[in-house]
Amino acid sequence: MTTDEQIALVRGDAAEKRPTVRVLAAAMAHTDCSLARLALAARTDLDHLCDGTYFAVEVGQDPQAFQRGQMFECRVKDKGYAGLIQLLREHADFPLADVRIRNLRDGALPNEEGLRLRAAETRQLLKKIINKAPDAPNIIDGAVLVCTIAGKRAYFEADGLAAATGGQIHAAEIKSFPITDGQCDGDKLGAACDQAAWYILLCRMTLIDLGLSPEAVSNQGFIILPESTGLRPTLLIQGLADRVRRASRLLDSAPKGDDIVKTSCGCQFPGEGGDPQERLETLEAMMDKVGTNYRPDCLQDCGMARLCRGRAHDLGLVTLSGSAVARYLPGVRTLDRAADLAAGVPAAASEAYSAAALMRANAIYEQVLAKGEL
Ligand code: SF4
Repeated sequence: MTTDEQIALVRGDAAEKRPTVRVLAAAMAHTDCSLARLALAARTDLDHLCDGTYFAVEVGQDPQAFQRGQMFECRVKDKGYAGLIQLLREHADFPLADVRIRNLRDGALPNEEGLRLRAAETRQLLKKIINKAPDAPNIIDGAVLVCTIAGKRAYFEADGLAAATGGQIHAAEIKSFPITDGQCDGDKLGAACDQAAWYILLCRMTLIDLGLSPEAVSNQGFIILPESTGLRPTLLIQGLADRVRRASRLLDSAPKGDDIVKTSCGCQFPGEGGDPQERLETLEAMMDKVGTNYRPDCLQDCGMARLCRGRAHDLGLVTLSGSAVARYLPGVRTLDRAADLAAGVPAAASEAYSAAALMRANAIYEQVLAKGEL
């Protein structure tokens, strides 16, 4: 069976979700969820499969935030990218003269063919930058990078790629959430960094494909944000090496083209129409067979989160307490089992580390109780 046939079979009537960098960045948070990995490979949109049921979740970008994002991006690129150039000069040793900008969105076809042409031009421009060609751009706007996910080519549109001095290429991501006195929303900053990390990885893959050194792409990403509630842009330089490694692991772990049906364990995602109760039953059967790994941060970006949280509650899973607690308790699946181990029931070999930690914590708790300090 071809990859396209496998994808069509597993996705069934569910809506398609084309992989974008935003989708990949969100998937990075769920590399330990087999169902989310399968959905990525089968290009399936999980966000509306619970619509019409008690477990429906509101996902998607708030229209006001979208509008603010558009306005801010215009501000950064206004007057021949003056705002962006000034930021790069102030923060990243960008050359004072000889700014060469290539905007690949100008006149591009708004379809897959347009993306393909821009990807080909991005490759040529990257080659020129690395080879220090005199007409090489030092800012590429709307670069398109390519990668194969689950055996299918996908195109990814970058906000900007800035080649600063010394031939190092930096990925830049423009976001409209504010930064005030150096403080901003950590989750949003994390998501922006994940997206920039994907651009770094995809850019390196392109250079490798061209027979060029991937080292030319810096691990430092540029995140451009508005200061306070106004739209004056500022630039944060973020070290993204760990995130780039995680992105690379996700690519390696996504089911390959010829594995998609096997990974689905013979299941098919349900379509969004039809009887909601039957859809839930199909989903639950699929979750049982394929496997999920709920954590509270699923609530931020997966349309299945309320359903998975309900199932995790029913089973009393440790992951309900958050990723940090789950990391402290390797080998322990449920909170009841954690309580038993804390009370000293014999532990299996895989639980030994967690059992010792739980017993220590329990002893401290008992001491505090005995002193009446709680
Ligand atoms: S909500 Fe469920 S399906 Fe979605 S990533 Fe979390 S565990 Fe996986």
